[in-house]
Amino acid sequence: MTATASDATASGATASGSAPAAAHFRFFALEVLRTRRLGHSFLRVTFGGESLSGFRSGGYDQSLSLFLPPAHQEHTVLPSTDEDTWFAAWRAVPDEERPVMRSYTVREQRRTPEGADEVDIDFVLHGDASPASRWAGRAVTGRRIMAIGPAVAANKSVRFQPPPGTDALLMYADETALPAAAAILDRLPAGTRVAAWFEVPHADDRLVLPTLADADITWIVRERGAGKERTERVLEALRAAELPVAEAPYAWLAGEAGTIRAVRRHVVQERSIDRRAVRFTGYWRLGASEEELLAEAYAGRAASEEPSSEL
Ligand SMILES: Cc1cc2nc3c(=O)[nH]c(=O)nc-3n(C[C@H](O)[C@H](O)[C@H](O)COP(=O)(O)OP(=O)(O)OC[C@H]3O[C@@H](n4cnc5c(N)ncnc54)[C@H](O)[C@@H]3O)c2cc1C
Repeated sequence: MTATASDATASGATASGSAPAAAHFRFFALEVLRTRRLGHSFLRVTFGGESLSGFRSGGYDQSLSLFLPPAHQEHTVLPSTDEDTWFAAWRAVPDEERPVMRSYTVREQRRTPEGADEVDIDFVLHGDASPASRWAGRAVTGRRIMAIGPAVAANKSVRFQPPPGTDALLMYADETALPAAAAILDRLPAGTRVAAWFEVPHADDRLVLPTLADADITWIVRERGAGKERTERVLEALRAAELPVAEAPYAWLAGEAGTIRAVRRHVVQERSIDRRAVRFTGYWRLGASEEELLAEAYAGRAASEEPSSEL
């Protein structure tokens, strides 16, 4: 899995020394301005802060890494934000004091008429046992966290990159990737043909998704399909669908890693979409925290000296 953190660490924000892309990402101090419930599972947190004047979201599925404080602290305190030393310093903090690093999506960046910079992040609330979900559920105005985010708009944490000539888009997202899917739809030019499947836990998570694209959206609501395996339910919906006739389709798939693997197999093997035109990313994995996924990614990278796969 390539979380933004691994992009950032791979790109020189660690002592690894690969300098060129280091300027693509840097630390930002974020302060909670307000929160708003969007649906049963979604909470939008709007952040501000002076350092956001240097924040440059590339839009689409732009991701970033948040550092959230341990439960007993109000604000995030990092031992270092120096690009060469922060990673080792952060890892050296005792477990119970160390801020957790989590990947999220920039749902929107804007400048207000008063000239203030704001960033929206839409958190899925999936229970208090998980640090990021717990933090979001308790976020109040004035809380301060840290992020590694984009300092240039053209950065490799924008994964949605349809090749020139793409004539139709196929999208699958679960709730964790719905903010990214929404931000992609926001930006698509008028008339872009899109067939999308969005899987959410509850009926009132079917958010209004403004777009100029010619988008045919199918919602898969999990609560209605109780009893059936989640991946099976998604494949069933995909198999029942007629895809737009296209010469050069591009598929963007993001969500739970096991489901993504199955959906990718479906679009490549059963729908004959060129595997090079399929961008797939595991945003989380059932039963594994992001620390565990990152540890696997680092172990894989150390073994192969190559960036790990996205799942
Ligand atoms: C590039 C990228 C962009 C992302 N953007 C967003 C975003 O905009 N909004 C968003 O909400 N998430 C997003 N995610 C997913 C998010 O990083 C994970 O869901 C993360 O695990 C949440 O951290 P946590 O501390 O709540 O749970 P963790 O401590 O990481 O996990 C604890 C347990 O909860 C499970 N779990 C994790 N997420 C969920 C979930 N959503 N539902 C049910 N169980 C879960 C894990 O399998 C594990 O068993 C993104 C991930 C990536 C890689």
